Amino acid sequence: MLDDELRELYQEVILDHQQDPRNFGPMQHPTHHAEGFNPLCGDRIRLELDMDGDRIRQMSFTGAGCAISTASASLMTEALTGKTRAEAEAVSQEFRDLVTGKLRDTEGSEAIDISRLGELSVLASVQQFPVRVKCVTLAWHTLEAALTAKKQVPISTE
Ligand code: ZN
Repeated sequence: MLDDELRELYQEVILDHQQDPRNFGPMQHPTHHAEGFNPLCGDRIRLELDMDGDRIRQMSFTGAGCAISTASASLMTEALTGKTRAEAEAVSQEFRDLVTGKLRDTEGSEAIDISRLGELSVLASVQQFPVRVKCVTLAWHTLEAALTAKKQVPISTE
């Protein structure tokens, strides 16, 4: 369990990104995009990427959702801008394993050093709230859809 001080800090980061989301707004000429929807909560996101070959030059998102989904999208754009597709996919996999509790050992503590996920680790606490896991992973599922195809139908977490 997180101690209270840490929990408070995490809340602050999430609120900060919800109130002032980074990389929010439409892009002029995205090379890749995808839309995602989480019907459980009503979160909607449109993610746009500007890929320079294999590297993510720029990422932005629009849409409306709860604090967790917005903060997760905002933190994701900060974490992945400048990364290659393979690097982004590796972070995405690790992040989704983290928030779904797959990285926990039998004692219930994180089996890896989550600090290497940087600010993204503030979202680890959602694994205690299964409904919120859909909110926190929406942007990441949408990223995967955006990276794998230029044109696709809107994805849903259901
Ligand atoms: Zn939500």
